[in-house]
Amino acid sequence: MNLSTLGEFGLIARLHEKLAPRSGVQLGIGDDAAVLAPLTSPVVTCDALVEGVHFRRDWASAYSLGWKAMAVNVSDIAAMGGLPVAAFVSIGLPPDCSVEWVEELYGGMELAAATYNFTIAGGDTVKSSELMLSVTLIGNAPQPVLRSGAAPGDLLFVTGALGDSAAGLEIMLNPELSVASSNREFLLARHHEPTPRLREMQAALQVESAVRSALDLSDGLAGDAAHIARRSDVTLEIETALLPISDECRAVAAAAQRDVLEYALKGGEDYELLFCIAPDKVNEIIAAVQSTGTPLTRIGRCIEREDAPVVLVKNGVREAAPVAFTHF
Ligand code: ADP
Ligand code: MG
Repeated sequence: MNLSTLGEFGLIARLHEKLAPRSGVQLGIGDDAAVLAPLTSPVVTCDALVEGVHFRRDWASAYSLGWKAMAVNVSDIAAMGGLPVAAFVSIGLPPDCSVEWVEELYGGMELAAATYNFTIAGGDTVKSSELMLSVTLIGNAPQPVLRSGAAPGDLLFVTGALGDSAAGLEIMLNPELSVASSNREFLLARHHEPTPRLREMQAALQVESAVRSALDLSDGLAGDAAHIARRSDVTLEIETALLPISDECRAVAAAAQRDVLEYALKGGEDYELLFCIAPDKVNEIIAAVQSTGTPLTRIGRCIEREDAPVVLVKNGVREAAPVAFTHF
């Protein structure tokens, strides 16, 4: 169905029907603004996705795009030590976009809201020459975990695996690559439908005074680690041999004749969490996080600040890490 058949308000009404209210929101879609229940320590994040820059409609289904738009914001709230409460969605729609596509998009967003227990509580709908989507997510973090909290002696840990998302992107960029179909499916899913590590962070926070600093890996480990290093005035030393890399990711790197470390260090969009952990809490943290079913791997340590914010140790040789992806 054409957007013009429904019009702005018809579309909003139709989307609203698909969205369930959950706790923490007293009044959602339908008034001039939403009303939230009081929060102890509100944390707020927002992320925009623009067609041609962040996604392609012929590569990602509307459903997985909706999931990802929410998941990346949940990942930010998780990294702060918070729980998500209410999301606000601004969409710019070109006239060639169908009502069904937008409904599917909201299906993916609502699945994330149901999975991570928050409410899509409002937004804005406009006509646009480019398809774009901006999500603002409000959460509650009674004790926010900051990038500035790391100290020399802390140990570095990462959840899950690194590089899968980049390997998935490689498969889309080079469709002629010979990749087993099970590997292909797994890696494309990791790219299109990342899992925000909300339960893992909540589990880690159960261990008192263990998590000194954390962030989610959206731009690649090497660049993101530098954010903690700068904010905490330390250097992060990462041993490349310790990085958790899946067999699926290694297989794609081999097929593409690429160094798998490129995916793991610079790939981005893995949405794993990087933790700086107090050294005396290591065993407790591993047990707590792994009780969620997600691996937690030690990859290095924090040391006194050096010239380079992030140092890689490869076969015993130290070198400054490459810098992160940036727009512009
Ligand atoms: P106003 O003109 O007062 O800003 P709108 O007519 O834009 O309000 O929106 C009406 C209601 O629908 C509001 O509650 C708003 O938050 C919600 N809304 C509008 N667009 C979206 C959207 N794309 N997704 C979710 N909620 C939306
Ligand atoms: Mg109004």
